[in-house]
Amino acid sequence: MSIAAPVADPPATTVTDGHHVVVEALKRNGIHTIYGVVGIPVTDIARVAQADGLRYIGFRHESDAGHAAAAAGFLTGKPGCCLTVSAPGFLNGLVALANATANCFPMVQISGSSERHIVDLQRGDYEELDQLAAAKPFVKAAFRVNRVQDIGLGVARAIRTALSGRPGGVYLDIPAAVLGEVIDASEAAASVRTVVDAAPAQLPSPAAVDRAVALLAGARRPLVVLGKGAAYARADTTIRSFIETTGLPYLPMSMAKGLLPDGHPQSVAAARSLALRNADVVLLVGARLNWLLGHGEPPQWSADAQFIQIDIDPAELDSNVPIAAPLVGDIGSVMSLLVDRAAGIDAPAPWRAQLAQRCAHNAASMAERLDADSDPMRFHGALRAIRDVLTDRPDVYVVNEGANALDLTRNVIDMAVPRHRLDSGTWGVMGIGMGYAIAAAVESGDPVVAIEGDSAFGFSAMELETICRYRLPVVVVVLNNGGVYRGDGVNPTSGDPAPTTLMAGARHDRLIEAFGGAGYHVRTPDQLTAALTRALASGRPALIDCVIDPADGTESGHLTHLNPAGIGTTAQPATN
Ligand code: ADP
Repeated sequence: MSIAAPVADPPATTVTDGHHVVVEALKRNGIHTIYGVVGIPVTDIARVAQADGLRYIGFRHESDAGHAAAAAGFLTGKPGCCLTVSAPGFLNGLVALANATANCFPMVQISGSSERHIVDLQRGDYEELDQLAAAKPFVKAAFRVNRVQDIGLGVARAIRTALSGRPGGVYLDIPAAVLGEVIDASEAAASVRTVVDAAPAQLPSPAAVDRAVALLAGARRPLVVLGKGAAYARADTTIRSFIETTGLPYLPMSMAKGLLPDGHPQSVAAARSLALRNADVVLLVGARLNWLLGHGEPPQWSADAQFIQIDIDPAELDSNVPIAAPLVGDIGSVMSLLVDRAAGIDAPAPWRAQLAQRCAHNAASMAERLDADSDPMRFHGALRAIRDVLTDRPDVYVVNEGANALDLTRNVIDMAVPRHRLDSGTWGVMGIGMGYAIAAAVESGDPVVAIEGDSAFGFSAMELETICRYRLPVVVVVLNNGGVYRGDGVNPTSGDPAPTTLMAGARHDRLIEAFGGAGYHVRTPDQLTAALTRALASGRPALIDCVIDPADGTESGHLTHLNPAGIGTTAQPATN
């Protein structure tokens, strides 16, 4: 009788699943933080991420998580990652992804989705939606992963697309079944890839540079406009060197504030209208000629103005007025080429003098408004108090949204450091406040002051709980005039509040107290200075509710011309 040789146990294979592969793919591409709201089918992605050393920041609403991811993209230069559940959660996040795309911020929204074989036949699944199709019109690109072995490819494709060329938002759809699919661990590891050189240097031709330099050299009233693309490009030293070597006057768009310190003698922010109306040659650096710049047309600009535009996206050029000298390339490379040619460029003295005179005049009238104390406190008094504190704290990130609260803060609060101001941006959107503030605190570890109109704050107010849960150094300042634009609207026809009014005397400070944060309620600039100083020194979450005169504020802020009704709060009662 023969004895069979013992059969060796088959080698143990280690397996993993889609959740783990997603996390590994993010990690291999340097993404260490996920902003999201968990639920079916993505909860395990967050759990695995935490277990694997990534940070997961859980929000109360997907739009806020998405806005945080978008801000993280702008602040770090890597795509911010937002995690959402199927259908409604996905749609909530999509608002932020679309906003990120409009602002040219790199972001990837990863969403779980319901079963394809049910969704595609519209058989009525839990949270049924064709999310890929829904996302497409609003994003730079949208992809779906249909097999677990393609997750690494999908994540890499999303990251490269978000970062390359003009940065933007990318949607990545991963159905529940794919997340739960099991795969051999070694096969999974081999399927994950690291994106190499996602935003390569790109230079314009020498002829394009010659054309731009010739225009600038012949200008009588040159102007440089720095946009948030310039801030995003992280070419701070090169840009500053060009500005200072040439002596050209420059105007920072709101999120480019701090690229050079706002008090810089060549900044003509205080003479914005005069500079735009009279400039004959304009160098746009990462700024689009969209509504924020009057589309490059009269009456904001001279009809004869000639534009030089530096942009990574060739399709942006000529989108409004003709661009006389396009410089298609990345801002760092293009500005280096211009620095080499700076010797032949300067700003004629009469133009500099004209601008300096207007700056001094406007600064003096602004100082008068800021110093005029009033009871109740008005926006300018409150902003003077905030300015006095923040002047000594250049490390503080400033987040800003609202109507009057946005327009006035932008003009009053100076920034001294690049990429420290985040605001409503290209869409002029409300609701970015707490998401942006959370991202700034999480990504930098530095303090954040969010200066919020009371109406704008309401869109993301529940994230105070998130700020407290993660113990973030965020101080929210609510400029509370009790309304959208202002709080003294009257409804002449019924007892219902007027459309623009909110609850008079609302105590926003008590909201944060519910979550263990510090609440302050202030009525004067001095009280505001004291509260903000204390709140910043504590390093803890705080909210300062500032009582502002309900009659202070303009309907539609600086955008009255876009408001077709234009009847404002002093409207005549409707007549039949
Ligand atoms: P702002 O609102 O501050 O005027 P915009 O968002 O309108 O700024 O413009 C930013 C522009 O910068 C976009 O057209 C975008 O394509 C461009 N951009 C972003 N990053 C870069 C880069 N690294 N190099 C060149 N252009 C860039």
